[in-house]
This record gives sequence, structure tokens and C-alpha cells, in this order.
Amino acid sequence: MLIHSDWHIHSEASYDATLTLQQIADSAQKYGFRKVGITDHLNFNDEKFRNDLKTSVKIVREFQKNCSFMIQGVELTPIEKPEFDHIAKTGTREGYIAPVQSAPYAIELGQTKQELMAQGVRYAIGAAHWRVDVPNAKALEPDRDACIKEWYRQQMYLACDERVTILGHPWWSSKGLWYEDFSVIPRSMNMDIAAALKENHKYVECNAHFFRPTKKTEKFRCQYAEFLRELHEMGIPVTYGSDSHSEYKDGHLLAEKYLTAAGFKDGDIVELKEEDLW
Ligand SMILES: [Zn+2]
Ligand SMILES: [Zn+2]
Repeated sequence: MLIHSDWHIHSEASYDATLTLQQIADSAQKYGFRKVGITDHLNFNDEKFRNDLKTSVKIVREFQKNCSFMIQGVELTPIEKPEFDHIAKTGTREGYIAPVQSAPYAIELGQTKQELMAQGVRYAIGAAHWRVDVPNAKALEPDRDACIKEWYRQQMYLACDERVTILGHPWWSSKGLWYEDFSVIPRSMNMDIAAALKENHKYVECNAHFFRPTKKTEKFRCQYAEFLRELHEMGIPVTYGSDSHSEYKDGHLLAEKYLTAAGFKDGDIVELKEEDLW
């Protein structure tokens, strides 16, 4: 067994998840996990997401009275700075019109480290989810090369930002744009990201999603495990995340198969160190 903890789980406090903390704790016990991290979404700096995080903190704090192995985290996603500014000014995402400009939008995250810490959040996963470089990117046809460039930009940002403890699901794509062959991602990009993670003492996540058969080829899954192995060998600590939302997924069993084939040994998939928690 390689995986002994899970640092990426959404509870019912997330808009897209229904897991209760009791279900999470029961699953942790079932699989013999020593620690679990609750990482509900803080996508935007609006009231709705701030309240979701408040709920997450409240229910985790209550649950921790009887469950010392549950840790409070959060999942942050890059958003476009002009939208962040609009929300900061008006309190809502409504009425936002993406400005026209030639350069990609600057990147922002939903809250400052001080704000997160003041609430009792102890670590953050930072993960790219959608393009924030151009106006209304969600409405665009997926363009693989443009997405690779944008994911690289966001992941470099996350690897360097003080709010990020773990780079979450590197190269996740809702459209599966590179899930046939991971080698379409230039190696130089991965080496840059690795160097930034190492220099800034970040962890990288092994997310169960990449080893599920949906959309991903066998070749991709092996390549992805080897990519994680290379980061591990460069000294970047690798954590595990099931990224469970509605039921607790035993994705670690499948992930372990690919990780073992790539050379991972027991002890190579780590917990967050106490000194790295806020
Ligand atoms: Zn995510
Ligand atoms: Zn997630």
C-alpha cells in the first residue's frame, strides 16, 4: 500500500458536492487513512463562495472535536483579475463584462493568505480549472495548444504563489484535451513547473482522476504516473487526492497500480508536514 492519507476531498459545503463529514471519516477508517483534508471550493471572492468556505470551516471544526485526523484546507482556482476587481467593488459577479485587451488577463485567487488563515484554513490546493486569459473562454471551442499555454501560465503562477501548499491535479482538463498522449505537453514546461515547485517548497498532487479509465488512454495513465515519479525524484513531495465529491471514491487502489509500475514505493506518497501547515 502506497497511499495512507487523502488531502483533496469536497464536503457538502461545496456547491458541487454532497459528501458528509461522517461519510468521509467512515471511508478514511475503512481504507486505513491516517489523515484526511477537507478542501471545499473557493472559486470567486463573492458572498456565495465566501459563505461556502465559512460553512466548511464551521462543520469541520465541529467534527474535529471527535475526529483529530481531519484537517481544514481549501481548493483555490485562478480567476481573471478584472473579474476579481469587479466583485471586490460590487460584491457580485453579476454585471461583469470582460474587458477587451491584447495581453492575457492577470491572475488572482479568491482570498489572501491572511484571510484564509484567520478563518482557520491550514493549507490550500491551487489548481487550474478553466482558461482565464481571454474573454468568455468557456464559450470558446477548445483549442489544445492555447489551453496548454494557458495551463502552463496558471500552473507557474500557482507554483510561485504564497497561498498554494499543493499544486492540485496538474494538467487536469475537463475536455480531456491531452488525455490520449501526455507527451503533447512540452517537457520544458514540466521542467519549469517542477523547478518552481521545488524552489518554492510546494507539494504536487497525485489526483485519482487521472487513473480512471474515462477518457484517458492506458498510455496516458502510465505516462502520467511516470511524470509524477520524475517530480518525486527531483525532490518534490507528492500527496494523494481522491477529489471525491458525491461519494467517497476508492481511486487510490487504481492509482497505486500505476504508481507502483512507475517505481513508487511505500513512503513515497507523503502527508503534509506539520511545519508546512499554516
Ligand atoms: Zn479541482
Ligand atoms: Zn477538487
